Amino acid sequence: RKPRVAVVFGGRSSEHGISCVTAGSVLKAIDPDVYDVVPIGIATDGRWVLESGDPERLRIESADRLPAVDGSRAAITLAQEADATGLVVTEPSQPPRTLGEVDVVFPVLHGPWGEDGTIQGMFEMAGVRYVGAGVLASAVSMDKAYMKVVLQAAGLATMPSITVTARSWARDAAGIRERSAALGYPLFVKPARGGSSIGISKAHDASELDEAIEEALRHDPRVLVEVAAEGAREVECGVLQALDGTPETSLPAELRVGGDHEFYDFAAKYLPGESTEIDIPANLPGDVAERLRDLAAQAFEAVGCEGLARVDFFVMPDHSLVVNEINTMPGFTPTSMYPQMWAASGVDYPALVDRLIQLALARGTGLR
Ligand code: ATP
Ligand code: MG
Ligand code: MG
Ligand code: MG
Repeated sequence: RKPRVAVVFGGRSSEHGISCVTAGSVLKAIDPDVYDVVPIGIATDGRWVLESGDPERLRIESADRLPAVDGSRAAITLAQEADATGLVVTEPSQPPRTLGEVDVVFPVLHGPWGEDGTIQGMFEMAGVRYVGAGVLASAVSMDKAYMKVVLQAAGLATMPSITVTARSWARDAAGIRERSAALGYPLFVKPARGGSSIGISKAHDASELDEAIEEALRHDPRVLVEVAAEGAREVECGVLQALDGTPETSLPAELRVGGDHEFYDFAAKYLPGESTEIDIPANLPGDVAERLRDLAAQAFEAVGCEGLARVDFFVMPDHSLVVNEINTMPGFTPTSMYPQMWAASGVDYPALVDRLIQLALARGTGLR
């Protein structure tokens, strides 16, 4: 029989809608002659349902009209049966029916409870293969404070920052204001475990710090106050493992946001008609591009990523390279940066999806 792939999407994080959009594209790209696909939605309340997976419904129209998982559909559970892990569908007033064994899960989830090791831990416990980074690499990459600890230990540069918790802010806001000022304005304030720029703001001076911290704290009780990379260019690089495990890197891409955006915020990332310009490949001197790709692979290895990652850099005015962050499940629609960088590097979208599934099938379910 064909390998059965469960595409899991939606989820409990603020990136629920973006995950649905990505899933629409992934579902369209999986070859039904090769794989048997089961679309599984996680509703915002955490309920797992058997989704229709209709790509027409999973599209982005505008910022306030993102698709969502339909939580009223038949409930679904991952259940361990003898030596295999099966999917069980439960519909009201009908006996549970089994959908059969799952060979691999593709968790197309962004943010906490999806990209942070939690669902990965569930798959490990159930002995199910899955696409992408494992528990530790997911957790480390999701939390920007710990990500920096690991990258710095590997000799990679990151922007200086301090970590603020809801508790420390409540106890000692004055002290945090002082330590922030010592970093030097302007500062970026971000949720430690976020994505899609949700909850991020730029504090130009002390008068904007409190509101920036409070906004970020609405998304995460752990927040970073970070030195702004002034005058830097933003360049991203895709990493994709070869079937032998080697992290291969894509051509890097530069993005430039239009004058109406001060940084690469949610609208600049996703909304149609925004003025973000993208250069693939980034127009960098050859040696800088080579160094950047090498650092992307180093970051991937330092954190212990698997499958895929997108490493975001700041190229400083003196051409030194600073890692902004690692995303273990980057935006993944055909127009997202990661697939576009790979398309430009000779791996088209369906091939990318297939490689990721093949990598997950090959790597097994034991300790790696
Ligand atoms: P993603 O959607 O890529 O996962 P994210 O929500 O994890 O994004 P970041 O990539 O850390 O957040 O930041 C989002 C954007 O904010 C960056 O692409 C950049 O435009 C701006 N930014 C963040 N930190 C800094 C900084 N220290 N200096 C300058 N710009 C920054
Ligand atoms: Mg990110
Ligand atoms: Mg992200
Ligand atoms: Mg980013």
